[in-house]
Parts: sequence; structure tokens; C-alpha cells
Amino acid sequence: MGTILEYMNNFDLIVIGGGPAGLMAAGQAAELGSSVLLLEKNHNLGVKLLMTGGGRCNFTNKIPPRTLADAFGANGKWLLSGLTRFGSNEVISFFKSKGLKVKVEANGRVFPESDNANDLLTLLLEHAKKNGVTIRTGSSVLRLEDDNGRIQSVVLRDGTTLRANKYIIATGGRSYPTSGSTGDAYDWLRALAHRVIKPRPALSPILLNDDIKELQGISLSEIELRLFQGDKKLGSAIGDIIFTGSGLSGPAALNISRVIARHPGVELEVRIDFLPLVNQQVLEQNILALTQENKNHDLKNIISELVPKKLAIHLLSVAGINSDKKGNGLSKAERQALARTLKSYAVSVKGLRGFEEAMITVGGVDLREVDPKTMGSKLFNNLYFAGEILDLEGPTGGYNLQVAWTSGYIAGENAAKA
Ligand SMILES: Cc1cc2nc3c(=O)[nH]c(=O)nc-3n(C[C@H](O)[C@H](O)[C@H](O)COP(=O)(O)OP(=O)(O)OC[C@H]3O[C@@H](n4cnc5c(N)ncnc54)[C@H](O)[C@@H]3O)c2cc1C
Repeated sequence: MGTILEYMNNFDLIVIGGGPAGLMAAGQAAELGSSVLLLEKNHNLGVKLLMTGGGRCNFTNKIPPRTLADAFGANGKWLLSGLTRFGSNEVISFFKSKGLKVKVEANGRVFPESDNANDLLTLLLEHAKKNGVTIRTGSSVLRLEDDNGRIQSVVLRDGTTLRANKYIIATGGRSYPTSGSTGDAYDWLRALAHRVIKPRPALSPILLNDDIKELQGISLSEIELRLFQGDKKLGSAIGDIIFTGSGLSGPAALNISRVIARHPGVELEVRIDFLPLVNQQVLEQNILALTQENKNHDLKNIISELVPKKLAIHLLSVAGINSDKKGNGLSKAERQALARTLKSYAVSVKGLRGFEEAMITVGGVDLREVDPKTMGSKLFNNLYFAGEILDLEGPTGGYNLQVAWTSGYIAGENAAKA
């Protein structure tokens, strides 16, 4: 039998999870007058937050709510009202009002001027403490207990039972499990008959069936990746890529991995456009001009004007062309085949790397069972959700932390209401 601690019922609200979403929710509810207990299983708070943006913390993206929502794909509509209430401008103002200096980099990505994620964590902790949040680290929640359409208590792994009037689950997803996000809450929620969309790793390197080991280490900028199921285009992404020994990584590959994660068990193909700024016809003319100017040079050297040499040799071979051929030996049909390959090099998707290397989790609490205006459960009237536990995932660029801030703020605000 577990013990019921002396501060049982002393709290209006228990927040489970001390990541960005939980800290925002706890601070906000406490600021509005709730007595809040924050439970975190790690000995430190915000472990994953400190890893974000390579430690620099790309904490939001400075774009309007509707554009932000669109970046989340089909589930973005659900988030729109929340982003209108507490979108990127509000997040920036929130942190600025607490003393953070911020800077905006390419593509609207917002960082602390110090390039130090710890500055955000410090401010979140100060906000929570100033408003009287009680923080218990080293406290791993094992399950929730319900009765009569309400959550009654949380049971910790050490057997302790804790009660409050309201509860917010902010335990994150399953990615980077060493950070503490091990997906514990999915089982609690299934036990409560809440629907959970199967969690899968995303923003994760792509594994390919093709043998492209020889390309390992080649990194390229402004590449377009298009994802296809047969002839049906499922998505596209433009940005940097890097060839790994087993597939593709880099921002464009990570972003397209979100769509791959949403299509499990389906044969998919990525078509790589190495030169998205020119169309195929212009590219053919460019190749013609290059080969005329360099008649007696090897094709592999000529094409390395367009892509790195190792890649040029590989793509010439894929196009069925001997790379030792001279410029003046390239036929019209070969030129067309080469331009086609440069514009649409097709590779077959084997899958994605696992949760250990995935920045986020696709899947989570089914949004149909959560009220987007309050982040409240439609099944339990004293239960709320915040952060990556929700079935929402955005591209790289500050979108995923924005989910944590928006949902944390709204969940905290609504849980604080009587
Ligand atoms: C390497 C990396 C880099 C990233 N960079 C960026 C970036 O630059 N910009 C961006 O927008 N997003 C980035 N992300 C994604 C972003 O970090 C997450 O979306 C965000 O941290 C989710 O916040 P959260 O509070 O919902 O969950 P988490 O940050 O995962 O926090 C959940 C917390 O709950 C705790 N917990 C879990 N189970 C229990 C339990 N049973 N009992 C008690 N506590 C529990 C965990 O220990 C954890 O502290 C990155 C992710 C990774 C892995």
C-alpha cells in the first residue's frame, strides 16, 4: 500500500512533466492563483529543452498564427485557435518581459541572443518559483486513478499517492528517451480509455534501400526532396541534406521524415532534385554549354561544376553514362537522361531511424478527444494536456517548442479556472 503524503489535497493542480510545456503550464496556472505541484521524474528539469537547437534553443518561429498552423499539416487547424491566443509574438513577449534578449535568424527562427538554452530554462524556473509552484524532481508518475469521469489521484513509482483538483499531463513524447521522455503517459491514457495515435519517431534520419555508401558525408544546400507513393506526391521539403552511410539526414530530410512517419508500412520513394532553381530544359542547355566549353575534359569533371565530384560520378552511373567519357562524347539522349537524374534522383525508403535519434514523436493523444480552446480532455473534466504528448508535430525551425508554449499556456490558464 502506498502512502498518501501530507500535502494530499493541498494543491489545486498537479502538473506531470517538467519540460517546456509543463513549466509553462505550472507557471501560468500559479500566476493566476492556483497552488501547483510539478512532478518531474528526472533530477533536473528541462533536460530536453537544454538540447534544443544544438544547445542554442530555437524556441519559436516568427510567423503569423495561420502560417504557423499550416506547417503542422492536417492537425494544424486544431492548433490555430491556440496559436491565435498565444502564438510566436506572445511567446517572444513573454520571454522578453522576463528579461530575455532574443534574435531572429534565417527563415524566422528565433533564438535567445546568448545562444544559450539555459537562459530560457532559468526564466521558466524563476517564473514558476516566483508564483509559488512546488517542484518535486525525482518523482516518477506510474499511473493515474480515475472515478466517475474525473482523475482522482496520481500514483508515483515509489507508491506515493498524490491528489489535486486538476491534472495536466506534460510528459512529452518518446524521442530521445535518455532525456526522460519515455512515453510513460501513453499507457496511463490507454488504461483510461483515451485514444492514443500510435507514437512513431519523426524529424529523424531517413533509411534507404539503395546502396549509397559511396556518397556518405556529402552535404548539400538548397536541395528539394519530394516524397511519392507511386505517382502520388505526399509532400516536399527544401533545405540542406547530408548523405549518411545508410540514407539521408539534414533539415530537408528530417522535415520530410514527418510525412514518412505518417505513412507506415507503405512503399515510398524520395525523388531528390539537386538543382531545384532550374527546370529540366534549362539544365539540359546548361549541360550542353558546359560540355561544349570543355569538349576534351572528362564528364565527371565537367558535371562536378554542378554537384560534388563523388556525387557527379554516382549520378552519371545512375543515368547509364560512362563518367570517363569526354564532353564531346555525350549524346543528346544521355544529356536528357543526366538532366532527369539531376532533377529527380529516385531512392527507395526503408524507414526512419528510431526514437533514440528522432527529435520528435508523431502520434500521441488523439486531438478529437481534446478541446483546442482549453487543452482539456473531453473524457475527464479535470484533465488537461500540454506539449508533445499531443498528436501534433511540426517541422524544424522552432515549431515544436511553440506547441509546448501554446498548449502549456492554455492548459495552465484553463486549469486555473474554478
Ligand atoms: C536534440 C533535439 C533538438 C531539438 N531542437 C528543437 C528546437 O531547436 N526547436 C524546437 O522547437 N524543438 C526542438 N526539439 C523538440 C522539442 O525539444 C520538444 O518538442 C519539446 O521539448 C517538447 O516539450 P514537452 O514539455 O512537451 O516535453 P519534454 O521536453 O519531452 O518534457 C517532458 C518531461 O516529462 C518528464 N516525464 C516523462 N515521464 C514522466 C513520468 N512518468 N513522471 C514524471 N515526469 C515524467 C520527462 O522527464 C521530461 O522532463 C528538439 C528535440 C530534440 C530531441
